[in-house]
Amino acid sequence: MARRIARPNPTETLEVPALTRVCPTCAGVLWSANMARRTVTTLAGLILLRLQVRSCRNPECPQYKVCLRPEAEGRFALPQHEFGLDVVALIGALRHAEHRSVTEIHAELVRRGVPICVRSVGNLLDRYDELLALSCSDTDRLRRITGKAGQVILAIDGLQPDVGHEVLWVIRDVLSGEVLLARSLLSSSQDDLAKLLCEVKEALAVPIAGVVSDGQTSIRKAVAKALKGVPHQLCHFHYLREAALPVYEADRHAKVQLKKKVRGIRPIERKVEGRDDLEAGAIRGYCAAVRSALTDDGRPPLEASGLKLADRLAAVATSLDRVAGKRGCRRN
Ligand SMILES: [Zn+2]
Repeated sequence: MARRIARPNPTETLEVPALTRVCPTCAGVLWSANMARRTVTTLAGLILLRLQVRSCRNPECPQYKVCLRPEAEGRFALPQHEFGLDVVALIGALRHAEHRSVTEIHAELVRRGVPICVRSVGNLLDRYDELLALSCSDTDRLRRITGKAGQVILAIDGLQPDVGHEVLWVIRDVLSGEVLLARSLLSSSQDDLAKLLCEVKEALAVPIAGVVSDGQTSIRKAVAKALKGVPHQLCHFHYLREAALPVYEADRHAKVQLKKKVRGIRPIERKVEGRDDLEAGAIRGYCAAVRSALTDDGRPPLEASGLKLADRLAAVATSLDRVAGKRGCRRN
């Protein structure tokens, strides 16, 4: 059924780079083909994905001009889906672990701010059941997916909608974009994950050229155990997010310290209450400037809100110094 109301605008934009730079088939350089855009509705809001698509330009290569989409795309959503895998995982967990009805699941998603209709909840529940029904014993399907490229690059992701819920583990083939195996596991130990990887490895008739993951310790150990010698690359998205964490923490600490220095705006505002002269107006203006600086948050890690606050307070202080200079007095 066609959508009757417009989809809300994305709340966030994410750049998703393609990590593979070398053609998996001919080992030639992969060239940037285009920048695809796709909006996915996740539990955290609507995300606009800007996806870097690459392709091989070697006319001799069987994969000539075949588009290779970023490895991390499948972590967000299944192919041609507008709802994120995290939404699918939550719907499955609410249905099967908590035995909630489709109407109750819909109410829960709406409560969490996910713009979704009841019919879509039913459809996504079917997708969840289909995902878990995927079996590595269906060799025809595996051959169809992996035959063309003659090899696979595996991506392994764990989606846990809420703490305490089972984790939906999804193993995908990056080259075809298809899910090979999905399992919902209560425990995510390295042995459990190694078993899943072994299951995939044994069913595949083609070699595994590499593995991409977020680098969680249990995944790293499971890959080392089940797929000895296969290169394992961390997803850049997670890698950068982890690297930015210490910077983010330091900035947050700096912001707390700065905030301590600009307390007491309310008493100043109270002192000039009821006055409508120029000086009172200027004081109110400065108070408003400090207030808005305190609530102006940047989006970490690319916009450091502590640094932003320091810049804005410095501008207020410079302006106050200028006023004090003109009047021949010093601010204290
Ligand atoms: Zn090639």
